Amino acid sequence: MTGRATVEGGGLEAALGLMAGASSVAVLTGAGISTDSGIPDFRGPNGVWTKDPEAERRSTIQHYVADGEVRRRAWQVRLASEMWHARPNPGHLALAELHRQGRLHTLVTQNIDGLHVAAGVPESLVVEVHGTVHRYECLGCDATGPMDEVLDRVRAGDDDPACLRCGGILKSATVMFGQSLDPVALHRAEQAALEADVLLAVGTSLSVYPVAGMVPLAREAGRPVVVVNAEPTPFDAGAAAVVRGSASEVLGPLVASGAPLG
Ligand code: NAD
Repeated sequence: MTGRATVEGGGLEAALGLMAGASSVAVLTGAGISTDSGIPDFRGPNGVWTKDPEAERRSTIQHYVADGEVRRRAWQVRLASEMWHARPNPGHLALAELHRQGRLHTLVTQNIDGLHVAAGVPESLVVEVHGTVHRYECLGCDATGPMDEVLDRVRAGDDDPACLRCGGILKSATVMFGQSLDPVALHRAEQAALEADVLLAVGTSLSVYPVAGMVPLAREAGRPVVVVNAEPTPFDAGAAAVVRGSASEVLGPLVASGAPLG
């Protein structure tokens, strides 16, 4: 996204100050942090849904269960996903550095691409509120496993692979529209918003609930919110600092601002 966004001076200065003074930072990331790794977001100008409104149908559990054609298309889309080749970008690496500084409280991500862990953030600190594409799950029983196992079957010609244990419908281990979030993950997200010194929201349109609710929760608890996003969000007005820019360019300086001296 280099060249698309610019950093707004005042917002950056305020964000640098807040990040420098925080000994504990809760982070909420969205699809925007991974666009510079080659994974399109949903609602940005080049977003999957902006370009292909049918994609929303594939992400809705009722359609997925009822319509074999939706599933067959979903498996082809999974097979061709950019996510299998994507690598962490400087934005992901900066958040791993925040952890090495000992200042990362929790990293709550709406992303399903696994790039925060690939960048070096310990799994124990990452809450994948919308699940992961790297595993499959069965809607009929509790079978789950590495996604590669099912993609191999799709590659071999099974266009709507069924669960080998119960014959049920398989999907990626992601939360589709119409499915509930894991209450444990949601609780961890809320606690992070309440406990950390600062909430840093990065690359998210803050339009998907209940996760976006972390922002008003933090604000009501008196915690400053720093928003880093390429486009305006509904929570910019109440944020302590807004940096309109690219996550992969902005997060490095923001994290370095609080690096321990010496
Ligand atoms: P979103 O698509 O609603 O919003 C992404 C935001 O990021 C947009 O406002 C866009 O302007 C901004 N953005 C794009 N590139 C940026 C960059 N380089 N730096 C800073 N900002 C940038 O995404 P969302 O809020 O995460 O919600 C969408 C849902 O889609 C989530 O539930 C998520 O699970 C899913 N999703 C995940 C991935 C992924 O795992 N990488 C990709 C697409 C969608």
